Amino acid sequence: MTPEILLHLEHVTRTFGKADRLFTAVKDINLDIHNGEFVALLGPSGCGKSTLLRMITGLIAPSSGIVSYRGKPVEGVNPYATMVFQSFALYPWLTVLDNVMLALEARDIPADEQKTKAEKLIDLVGMDGFESAYPRELSGGMRQKVGFARALAVEPELLCLDEPFSALDVLSAEALRGELMELWTSGQLPTKAVLMVSHNIEEAIAMADRIVVMGKEPGHIVTEFRVELVQPRQRKDPAFEALVDRIYGAIAGHTEPEAKEVGTPPGTPGMTRILPRSSVDELSGMLEVINQGAGHYDLYRLEGDLGIEMADLMQTVEMGEMLGFVDVKEGDIHITPLGQTFAEASILTRKEIFANRARRLPMIRWVMDMLHSAPDGILPWKLFYTALSPEFPDELAERQLDIAIDWGRYAELIDYDDRDQTLSLDPSDGKTVATAGKSA
Ligand code: ADP
Ligand code: MG
Repeated sequence: MTPEILLHLEHVTRTFGKADRLFTAVKDINLDIHNGEFVALLGPSGCGKSTLLRMITGLIAPSSGIVSYRGKPVEGVNPYATMVFQSFALYPWLTVLDNVMLALEARDIPADEQKTKAEKLIDLVGMDGFESAYPRELSGGMRQKVGFARALAVEPELLCLDEPFSALDVLSAEALRGELMELWTSGQLPTKAVLMVSHNIEEAIAMADRIVVMGKEPGHIVTEFRVELVQPRQRKDPAFEALVDRIYGAIAGHTEPEAKEVGTPPGTPGMTRILPRSSVDELSGMLEVINQGAGHYDLYRLEGDLGIEMADLMQTVEMGEMLGFVDVKEGDIHITPLGQTFAEASILTRKEIFANRARRLPMIRWVMDMLHSAPDGILPWKLFYTALSPEFPDELAERQLDIAIDWGRYAELIDYDDRDQTLSLDPSDGKTVATAGKSA
């Protein structure tokens, strides 16, 4: 038996602006949410996630298509759906208790029941003892918990969460995620389904039953994944990690460099594409600047804004292209969804994304394959140099190796021992990157 459909979106499109400057935020979205489901919407900023939630909760109407709840078109505010925003707006002049009670008053709950109910909710989110505190006395994490309590007071069937943890520090976010999952999986909530917007792949995998991946320009659904792992989910679980990789792959899929673009490994027929002379720091700097703009940039303006020579910039641009982080079209550089994910990611996630991409480059793969086939996984630098010499002039062969080592080290794929002048495989092989620190 398929669970009943609560929310139904059919060919939903939303545009903004007037006829001559019409902007399509999301286009032709089809999505169903069933009773009992926890669904995560994942995608780069600007792909229309918030716009979708606003249509679902009835704050705005679709330009075309149907948003219906339990088979009835949503007209005006959807009484079944409540939203928790990124940073919940509490009334600063009301105490924690009064902030939560306000939501109950709106529901015509008898006055004597309001207080008991509000106290129970405050207890539920782990805020008991703070009933008479004012929002200004609370940390961001505590305020967000009160925000949750207030949203839960409405007893929505569909709880909509718009990046509810992104304004919090790492520890508060993790704690609050845990509490929400506890509430959800233990069935203490009258809520029948959760729809959570996120741009954090691991958060989505840790919490959701289904992950809907969106892309942008215009916002659309790229693909979706079912998460079959049992709760509570372990980030170090190989199945968890495999899913992280698959989802990165889906996000990167649009910009997957063609095999011909990255060339062939040294020593095989075809051209080996030379690794451009640039570093991860330079690449990160460039991506951040592009991402802070509208996601694209005129190359000459970028040269000026970054304050570097065009020749150097072109090396970094090429590095970004090879890795699938940027596209260049007619003098404009565009950041890809993957590039954007990288620019907005934490240091560890950046390493993970970079490792995933770098290991596909023939030069890096060639170094790794050689090391894999060495008995103890160690080979002298000289050997690589000699092997490259037939294909590259001396200086270039040396520089190629330097770059491969530099990128490989950052990605935690390759190690270089300066004293012995040997290369080896990083014991983590780019894998501990995915989990290091996260469980700590
Ligand atoms: P996300 O939540 O995925 O970051 P949004 O839904 O906020 O994306 O926005 C999607 C696109 O729609 C963005 O390009 C944004 O600038 C645009 N947009 C959103 N709301 C409005 C609005 N009220 N007027 C004009 N453009 C808007
Ligand atoms: Mg948003």
